[in-house]
Amino acid sequence: MALDLEKLFPTNSMTLMIVDDTKANIDVLRQTLAESGYKITVALNGETALDLIPKLKPDLILLDVMMPGINGYEVCKHLKKDPELSDIPIIFITAKGDTEDIIEGFNVGAVDFIMKPFKQEEVCARVKTHLTLSAAIKKLTLDSETDSLTGLFNRRTFLKRMENEVMRCKRNQKSFSILFGDIDFFKKINDTHGHLAGDAVLVNISTLLNTEKREIDQVARWGGEEFLILLPETDLKGAVLHGNKIRELVSAKSTVHEGKEIHTSMSFGASEYSGDGNIEKTIDQADQRLYLAKNSGRNKVVSEDA
Ligand code: GH3
Ligand code: MG
Ligand code: MG
Repeated sequence: MALDLEKLFPTNSMTLMIVDDTKANIDVLRQTLAESGYKITVALNGETALDLIPKLKPDLILLDVMMPGINGYEVCKHLKKDPELSDIPIIFITAKGDTEDIIEGFNVGAVDFIMKPFKQEEVCARVKTHLTLSAAIKKLTLDSETDSLTGLFNRRTFLKRMENEVMRCKRNQKSFSILFGDIDFFKKINDTHGHLAGDAVLVNISTLLNTEKREIDQVARWGGEEFLILLPETDLKGAVLHGNKIRELVSAKSTVHEGKEIHTSMSFGASEYSGDGNIEKTIDQADQRLYLAKNSGRNKVVSEDA
């Protein structure tokens, strides 16, 4: 299946950074690449590059090797150590074309080399190739982390994020909570209005869950019509408040599908993790409490065991 990368990552939204201590080199590269529609940012030395890159998060970096102060290899090593920046492709532009230099460049994490004096067409071709490869990796990563119907995180990604939260909780000694949510009588929606209407309800509720949250909260589709919400630095009382807010919004907001208005509600089980014990136990506890919510009338949040 062809990946429609141009649509997902359009050229005119791409930002390139050129790092070179010779202004004349920057000017030629800037002119060449700007013609292809990229946005261009520049840095005249390694220090400035390391200051700007975390702020600008360029899609690709053209990096001179020999510069006064921090050289290109060192800049590259720094960037590869930062998980937020390590995926940015780096192409070295250099007059140092010995095999050892090239190998050193690849060892520190570069994706390619361009020799000075460079040919403009070659620079454009290599940049385009590496942007395409990088976009393909981004797309595959996104696909592997999210659920295709709703765009929410899938179970695997959620569990990974939860592990990070467990570590943070142990460090800061601040507990977090989870809400295990399930749509009430969802099977009936499929049976009455059809599977596509059911899908539309899932998308609608997912959007709501994802919009009505703090930036640090994480929402995942756990399975069919089940959702997990991770609420960092939140105690059980806070989780119940959030669960009730979502529950009321779901009840109030219907889904319109093919002219029909579909009403639904959600039940939640809430549990808190305060630093010790197994995280699976906390999920299981929320699941048990969800079960209690289902068995005691639905459209409610339960935060206690039977
Ligand atoms: P309860 O209130 O007890 O939760 O009842 P329910 O009907 O919501 O629960 P049940 O587990 O009996 O049914 C869940 C249904 O969700 C059955 C399954 O076919 C449907 N389902 C699961 N995934 C999808 C999906 O991606 N799209 C649609 N349309 N339906 C789905
Ligand atoms: Mg259900
Ligand atoms: Mg279910």
